[in-house]
Amino acid sequence: MRDNEGVECQVAREALSARIDGEREPVPSLRVDEHLRSCPDCRAWFDQAQQMNSLVGSLLDSEPARRLQEQAAVPTPPSRYRRALRWALGIAGAVQLALALGQAFGLDFGMLSTTHHGTAHAAHLLNESTAWSAATGAVAIAAAVRPRLAPGLACVLSVYVALLTYYVIIDDAIGQVTVARIVSHLPVALAAVFALLVWRQPEVRDTPPGAAAEGGHLKLLRSDDPAA
Ligand SMILES: [Zn+2]
Repeated sequence: MRDNEGVECQVAREALSARIDGEREPVPSLRVDEHLRSCPDCRAWFDQAQQMNSLVGSLLDSEPARRLQEQAAVPTPPSRYRRALRWALGIAGAVQLALALGQAFGLDFGMLSTTHHGTAHAAHLLNESTAWSAATGAVAIAAAVRPRLAPGLACVLSVYVALLTYYVIIDDAIGQVTVARIVSHLPVALAAVFALLVWRQPEVRDTPPGAAAEGGHLKLLRSDDPAA
C-alpha cells in the first residue's frame, strides 16, 4: 500500500463524479482512467455511482416524479443581483420622476435658459418634456415592482436614449444645451440600461404568462416574487 493511495482515490472519485455529472474533470481524464484500471475499489465505486446516477435519472424522468415536481415547484426567488437590478431601476425611475415634478413646479434644469424667447410655445414644449419624463419615471418604478413590464420599457427607453444622445451631441455642438440639462438625462439613460438588464434575467426572459416547462425539468417561474 502506498501512502498517497487514499488521496489518489479521493481525487479520482471527485473527477469521476464530475464526469458523471457531465462537468469538467479537475485532473486529466487519462490519469483518472489509469487509476481506475489499477484500483478495483474505485472501479466498484464508479460502477455503483453510474448505476445510482442512471437510476436517479430514470426516476426523475418518470411520470409520477414529474407530477410531484410540478406540485412542489415554487416560484424561484430572485437572486441578490436581480433584486439589486430592480432596486436600481426603481431608483432611476424615482429620480426621473422627481426631476419631472421639479420641472413641473418650475425648477430649471437648463431647458428654459437655452430658449431665449420665453414664448408660450416654448412653455408648452417644456410641459411635453415634463409629461414624458414623468411617464418614463413612473413606468420604471412599476417595472421595478413588476419586472414583466421591463421589456416594453427597455424598448421604448433604448430608442429614446439613442435619439436623445444624437440630439445632445448635435445641440451641444451649436451650444444649445447646458451641462445641467445633459446631467438631467442621466436617470433616464440609467433606467434604460437597468430595464435592459432586468429584461435579460431568466425570470423575465423565459416566462410566458403562467408556468414554463423546460427540458423535462419543470420550472414554475414568476416574473414577480410574492415579496414584491
Ligand atoms: Zn482508487
